[in-house]
Amino acid sequence: MTTSPLPTLRFAPSPNGYLHLGHAYCALQNERVAAKLGGQLLLRIENIDLDRCRRDYEAAIFEDLAWLGLSWQEPVRRQSEHFSDYACALEDLTGRGLLFPCFCSRADIARAVNAASDRPRDPDGTPLYPGTCKTMGADERAQRLASGQHAALRINMDEALAAAGMRLGWCEYGEEDESRDVTAEPALWGDAVIGRRDIPTSYHIAVVVDDHIQGVTDVVRGQDLFNATSLHRLLQALLGYDAPRYHHHKLLRDKGGEKLSKSTRAKAMRSLRNEGVSANELRRRLGFA
Ligand code: GLU
Repeated sequence: MTTSPLPTLRFAPSPNGYLHLGHAYCALQNERVAAKLGGQLLLRIENIDLDRCRRDYEAAIFEDLAWLGLSWQEPVRRQSEHFSDYACALEDLTGRGLLFPCFCSRADIARAVNAASDRPRDPDGTPLYPGTCKTMGADERAQRLASGQHAALRINMDEALAAAGMRLGWCEYGEEDESRDVTAEPALWGDAVIGRRDIPTSYHIAVVVDDHIQGVTDVVRGQDLFNATSLHRLLQALLGYDAPRYHHHKLLRDKGGEKLSKSTRAKAMRSLRNEGVSANELRRRLGFA
């Protein structure tokens, strides 16, 4: 008899600033769903960007979440300690001809894209990669890599879709448990970067590898990552990983309608705390009384 896996959720902040109300909302959504499913909640520190992430922000994450009354399983996974796991996945995909090195700088790409002004854009609004390094011969590639030139690894979307070989989708559930099947549309991302030029991984591959290694069955995260899930489903299929279920929750917005973020200077949880707001009051304000 096979037993179904323990429902496993994760809250996965990046320690590049203090947690704000949007993070609190996401953490509480994860707590709510974990409780409803009788599952466990993990905390993952997404600190692949070593220039922007800081230890003191990480310490503040633990402090703020504990203040909010959240508890999570130990040990906490810190992505910076697992670059070798991401490298294995990248090597696997590269070995199968599904990733190719791209030597272009941002300026190179901008020049090529400007030359074709009607270039379609990916769901984040970035013009699709014009394919500059895609057809480079094996010799030139090897030579440039051997001479120490830095390259990003891009997915060859056509090859990857052919290798996945099936219609991809996922189960998306809403606030009230109702669920629907969503068709994944990874092609919208074009030949996306899966291994960055400046660091030996990317958000996309790290999140997919970690969700697999940690046995995550239910991904609860903001609506802003809905389109990224198409790319994640493709990577999961290529790597032979099971698909989690997803719930992309609504985003909290400021008065001007902008989503709360560090760049819009959203109020930090710790500022509210310093103003005397209690954790219960914050939970109530966010709809988690
Ligand atoms: N680290 C991401 C963030 O802070 C979340 C990634 C995810 O939940 O998949 O926005």
